[in-house]
Amino acid sequence: MKAVGSEGDRGPARGPDGDPPAVELDGVTKRYGETAAVDSVSLRIREGEFFTLVGPSGCGKTTTLRLIAGFETPTAGAVRFVGEDVSGVPPERRDVGVVFQNYALFPHMTVGENIGYGLKFADSPDRQSRDERVAELLELVDLPDAADRDPESLSGGQQQRVAMARALAPSPDLLLLDEPMSALDAQLRERLRVQVRAIQSELGITTVYITHDQEEALAISDRMAVMRAGAPEQTAAPRDVYRRPASQFVAKFIGDNNVFVGRVTKVTEVSADAADDTSVAAVDVGSETLRVALGGAGDALDVAVGDRLTFCVRPEYLRIDGGESRIRATVANAEFLGETTRVTLDWDGRDLVVRTRDPLSGGVVAGFDPEDAHVVRVDTS
Ligand code: ATP
Repeated sequence: MKAVGSEGDRGPARGPDGDPPAVELDGVTKRYGETAAVDSVSLRIREGEFFTLVGPSGCGKTTTLRLIAGFETPTAGAVRFVGEDVSGVPPERRDVGVVFQNYALFPHMTVGENIGYGLKFADSPDRQSRDERVAELLELVDLPDAADRDPESLSGGQQQRVAMARALAPSPDLLLLDEPMSALDAQLRERLRVQVRAIQSELGITTVYITHDQEEALAISDRMAVMRAGAPEQTAAPRDVYRRPASQFVAKFIGDNNVFVGRVTKVTEVSADAADDTSVAAVDVGSETLRVALGGAGDALDVAVGDRLTFCVRPEYLRIDGGESRIRATVANAEFLGETTRVTLDWDGRDLVVRTRDPLSGGVVAGFDPEDAHVVRVDTS
């Protein structure tokens, strides 16, 4: 298989100003017996970045976070904070705030006492400065009048904001959030993620966030690592992960996608103008020949006649009665989602997904333009 290119899994070794990354995992493996929960992971998280680990259950997200927090030690490799190896540093001395899925607030303490608890071990814990800090944090998480309340009288979303305030109380260098919203309902999650992102931006704190919700990852992150079986399969900004998935797994895991596999029958140079040449492959998929852009001069994919191409087209780019490559299919199922209807088409036994505003039924023609297809894999003949 040839590499199809995309941003690599390693960020720059140093930030734009030459500083080492806030967090670096360098060839980190964590084994439990025969299982490699985390398998040779190298990641660089930049200062002030909101970085998300996303992936299916069991792919190693929590273990990666626990390695960063210091609750686990790597079987191999190193974890560095700003260039310093923290292998021997216990969690309480890593300057890290952690928020878990189950907010774990102390029920016998008020909200204010919960937040102040994190300051007991910090410097200058005198009563007045502690009260001021608690008030400041309650303001930050938009619960200014909650100091004397019983945590159990708060909603799930409010409790999670208190948990975040408690983690932030000692002004940690790094904030780690392990599925903090997964116990909340969908609407509340959407509102809370806006608040979490706003708080993070205001503080500029480097944050590592775990979710298995791909939409949440797209919405909240500066960059995200899509993990599978113990390692990131792609690390990039949400827009790049969505538009240019590095593999079939990423293409299918992040959002809806239509994946096509076919044999290349022709490669042509298309000249839009002299400065903008593009290569286009004609690919036989089932009964149709579909045209797929391979990129412009200089960065075009190296594809030859006979190669097997795997490419994908997002549902929003598959247009009814539009596009250059046309596919005749039949409506198999329609789900009304409010803004759009998600329609599944049957194309000679293959499923295709389109999104439309108009109701569809019976036989339809769906099409796409070459540049709306993204190649995820090339297998040479
Ligand atoms: P989830 O989304 O379900 O929380 P995850 O992506 O966070 O999953 P991890 O909890 O990191 O995944 O687990 C990764 C793998 O390591 C799984 O196969 C899990 O069973 C295994 N694992 C994790 N912790 C331990 C442990 N303490 N002992 C043995 N195996 C473990």
